[in-house]
Amino acid sequence: MLDKVIMADVHSNLTALKTVLEQVDPTDGTEFYCLGDVVGYGPEPNACINRLRSLDAHVLAGNHDAAACGRLTTQYFNPFARQAVEWTTRELTAENRRYLENRPDRIQTSPFAFYHGSPLEPLTEYITGTHQAEQAVRKAPEPIVAVGHTHQPILFRRSDGRFQPREVSGNHREQGVPTDEPLVLNPGSVGQPRDGDPRAGYVRIEETPESLNIHWKRVNYDVESVQEKIRRHELPEKLASRLAQGR
Ligand code: ZN
Repeated sequence: MLDKVIMADVHSNLTALKTVLEQVDPTDGTEFYCLGDVVGYGPEPNACINRLRSLDAHVLAGNHDAAACGRLTTQYFNPFARQAVEWTTRELTAENRRYLENRPDRIQTSPFAFYHGSPLEPLTEYITGTHQAEQAVRKAPEPIVAVGHTHQPILFRRSDGRFQPREVSGNHREQGVPTDEPLVLNPGSVGQPRDGDPRAGYVRIEETPESLNIHWKRVNYDVESVQEKIRRHELPEKLASRLAQGR
């Protein structure tokens, strides 16, 4: 049985990342994937990158990572996001900036295709609806498509002949999913959830050649200590307050 931990949108929230990793209890063969946006919004960009590097995690570029290292313009970012990206750019060590510059836009490992946004626009497209999810499975080179970027845990899967979203709020399991069944999953966000649940979210997958058990997990972390760090660095107050609401 192989074991994968899929995380996304850590957003410089080291406290949430550490809490998730404490809960994971990896076995020898556990592989870690992070679907982009390691940095942006939060107060500890270098420490988050260092932690993922120490795990040998497979880490994709997100739009905030690309902006923080100068690969993407911040022109389409909202003012809070832009301010945090500019702060992050100043904070990054030269080595971690290079690390972000070298992150890939996609990772393919059978039966998975990983993106931050989508196969069509790996850095920027939000998969929020059925139509985009269907396009994604048509375009992706592997059946199981995993994306981040929306900060909302979700699963699009065929049922009753139709491709549709499935509710995965809180802790949720999908057992015995065939590895050749096209679907789109989003693990939610480690560092800035936006589904109204402030707990850090991630996915753990148990894998055999024929099937997957997919577990969406949520875990409480010390939100207040992160808010305090955001305020100490004079990042926008909204970036602190939203963590308590999960919005
Ligand atoms: Zn994000």
